[in-house]
Amino acid sequence: MGRATFGVLARLVRQACGFCLVSDKHPNVLVAGGGIGGLAAAFACARAGTQVTLFERANEFSEVGAGIQLGPNVVSVLHDWGLKDELAAVAAFPHRLQVRSASTGAELGVLTLGPEIQARYGFPYATIHRADLHGLLLAALTTHGDVQLNVKSAVDRFVQHDDKDQSGRGGGVELHLTDGRQASGDLLVGADGLWSRVRQQLLGDGLPQPMGHLAYRALVPQSSLPADLRSQQVTAWLGPRLHVVQYPVRRGEWLNVVGFVHGAVAGDVQDWDHSANAADLRRAMGATCAPLQDLIHAIDAWRLWVLAIRPPMQGAQEQAQGRVALLGDAAHPMVPYLAQGAGMAIEDAAALGRVLASDGATLQIPALLQQYAQARWARNARVQARALRNGKIFHATGPMRWGRDASMKLLGERLLDVPWLYRGA
Ligand SMILES: Cc1cc2nc3c(=O)[nH]c(=O)nc-3n(C[C@H](O)[C@H](O)[C@H](O)COP(=O)(O)OP(=O)(O)OC[C@H]3O[C@@H](n4cnc5c(N)ncnc54)[C@H](O)[C@@H]3O)c2cc1C
Repeated sequence: MGRATFGVLARLVRQACGFCLVSDKHPNVLVAGGGIGGLAAAFACARAGTQVTLFERANEFSEVGAGIQLGPNVVSVLHDWGLKDELAAVAAFPHRLQVRSASTGAELGVLTLGPEIQARYGFPYATIHRADLHGLLLAALTTHGDVQLNVKSAVDRFVQHDDKDQSGRGGGVELHLTDGRQASGDLLVGADGLWSRVRQQLLGDGLPQPMGHLAYRALVPQSSLPADLRSQQVTAWLGPRLHVVQYPVRRGEWLNVVGFVHGAVAGDVQDWDHSANAADLRRAMGATCAPLQDLIHAIDAWRLWVLAIRPPMQGAQEQAQGRVALLGDAAHPMVPYLAQGAGMAIEDAAALGRVLASDGATLQIPALLQQYAQARWARNARVQARALRNGKIFHATGPMRWGRDASMKLLGERLLDVPWLYRGA
């Protein structure tokens, strides 16, 4: 069934029986931020039968960014949303994940992906350009009549109004944009990323802190690389105080390479798109093995972002309070060392859609958002903690490094597979 048809049918069913509505009035959802999380949230809420108005501060929905990995837990959500073909048209589906020593080039461990991981978890492991994932969510959204997307709309602050009766009607959220415009709705989703303004107002817990790691990213057509540097697998090169991850995107036609090193840059730490000097990266790579050096030297154009962190979530109150829910990086920023930043944002969105679509006629919106928060926070915290731990393991030096390499040789696939994660929420 096409999405437009689905939308019309869903509306007819709601009118006929009121079955999937939170109240007899369609809830009006305000979404702050139009990154992967914001678009996914808007899509999930629209599928649940709500009206959605999204505010993105950028002048246009942009192409910035590089590769993103999607485990079977995330691909399952996209398939469930009817986006299987759209994903297959732009993603790559690597056949294995190989871990190598950045120093010697030796293979440390392998996780078979491809059909094997699909058989194990029911869904494939995909790698995709951030712009392609963003684009497919955006295209899916445009088929929903109840979604209004606004660019050049930076959110400044919100005001929550108390519920006036037990049904939850009467209360609401007012959103104030930096240019003076206002909007009102039944609930607000703060999907405004790592440096979220919505979070700052809701939790008042300060800004994320740079962790002392820089991410150099590059995207190159595979055809521009020498044959021995082209690759259709995920490779993680682990070295002392650094690691490099490479994988195919865009149906395998492009190679995404990201080098993580220790360091700092002058300038705006909130900027995802610093220009980067290839010579600095090459210097930071130090004495790495020849195949890795060849790869890094084959690429001249790099961009850079600064990794910033928060401690893992402590409880559901960090994911929602009253009529405001946080989603994606706004709720649980994570270093990309478990490759689940976009994934957890998409899982959050699916969970939010589920509670809004549930038979919540007797529940108030704050209670529904608590259900969402309870469903999500512990898993998000676990992924955040595991990603931070991976950073230490990947960049290990001395005895810890030897221990890592020995256990990877011994346990191989059992160390690299993450069933509790890939099985989904
Ligand atoms: C430009 C950019 C490039 C990225 N590149 C990569 C990459 O190459 N690799 C990788 O692993 N991850 C990258 N990420 C991060 C990755 O997309 C996220 O970690 C993950 O997808 C979770 O998404 P999110 O929607 O929670 O946050 P984000 O993707 O950060 O999206 C947040 C959105 O909110 C908007 N926003 C912020 N403040 C406001 C405001 N006050 N009002 C309205 N809108 C606001 C931002 O412009 C952005 O569009 C990038 C993020 C951005 C914004």
